[in-house]
Amino acid sequence: MTDIEDRMEPDSAVYKTLLESTKAIPWKIDWKTMTFAYIGPQIESLLGWTPASWISAQDWAERMHPEDRDWVVNFCVSQSKAGTDHEADYRALTKDGEYVWIRDVVHVVRDENGEVDSLIGFMFDISERKKTEDKLLRLQKELEDLSFKDGLTGVSNRRMFDSILELEWANARRNNQPLSLIMLDIDFFKQYNDHYGHIQGDECLKRVSQALSLAATRARDFFARYGGEEFVLVLPETDEEAALVVAERCRKLIFKEQIPHAKSEAGQLLTISLGVGTLVPTHQDEPIRFIEEVDRRLYQAKEKGRNCIVNGT
Ligand code: GH3
Ligand code: MG
Ligand code: MG
Repeated sequence: MTDIEDRMEPDSAVYKTLLESTKAIPWKIDWKTMTFAYIGPQIESLLGWTPASWISAQDWAERMHPEDRDWVVNFCVSQSKAGTDHEADYRALTKDGEYVWIRDVVHVVRDENGEVDSLIGFMFDISERKKTEDKLLRLQKELEDLSFKDGLTGVSNRRMFDSILELEWANARRNNQPLSLIMLDIDFFKQYNDHYGHIQGDECLKRVSQALSLAATRARDFFARYGGEEFVLVLPETDEEAALVVAERCRKLIFKEQIPHAKSEAGQLLTISLGVGTLVPTHQDEPIRFIEEVDRRLYQAKEKGRNCIVNGT
């Protein structure tokens, strides 16, 4: 060793100070006995357990969230056996019974024969990073939910309807099953707005969508606001007769709401008109043509005097 190297060689006290003054918590496990040879004193301020209480690898496994334990222990043992450096994120149990997200970075030390001798690692407190990640995930999920939801009424929107119809269309074609569609439109809603004002118009739309969402009774029945004062129902595995029953239920649900409409030419209460269609889709059919056909029937219901249902028969 040269003079200069000799002078540069820090003594173990320097190493110890360096290790124990960082935020990362150093540790060493003896592979043969599976016991802790060392753990930094910082562990106590992070988790509350004294360094002396970390005796065996078992203590480490037990102070881990039950949901993380199996995969983390299995992963770390298999990586160590293979002699591969690795890292794992998990929730460590504190003395107060809380959990802290930890990243454990592990280096496998081998003896001169190449056998695993010990594991040396650092534990990092990653709870802040995890909190940010969780928040981002939550926001992302919220955004996804919102983009398929109508802002005013909270029911599914046109975009969701497009996706659902495409999905159910393919299902129906594959399984050779009837698919029904109901399109509904509030009667004389322009007059409602003009008479009661836009704010009450909005309230009315909320009430109508809440009421109509009850018409979808089977698990895969789907209800959405199509736009303005128009709504749709997608009814998978539903024939014409059953679809007509649902359409009639819609009319009754709106009647039950007893929403006054002083300017309606169809009566004193708010009413809806409905178009209903059913088909077993084939490769020749197209969803857009089907929607147009049902929309035509809705228009016919308006022509017939409103507050009624027009289907294919
Ligand atoms: P019809 O019986 O033929 O359906 O007549 P209508 O007056 O209901 O139909 P029209 O298409 O002439 O008018 C629809 C009205 O719906 C116009 C618009 O002011 C109102 N509307 C659409 N979307 C909203 C909304 O989000 N809030 C409110 N308050 N009104 C809306
Ligand atoms: Mg209308
Ligand atoms: Mg309309």
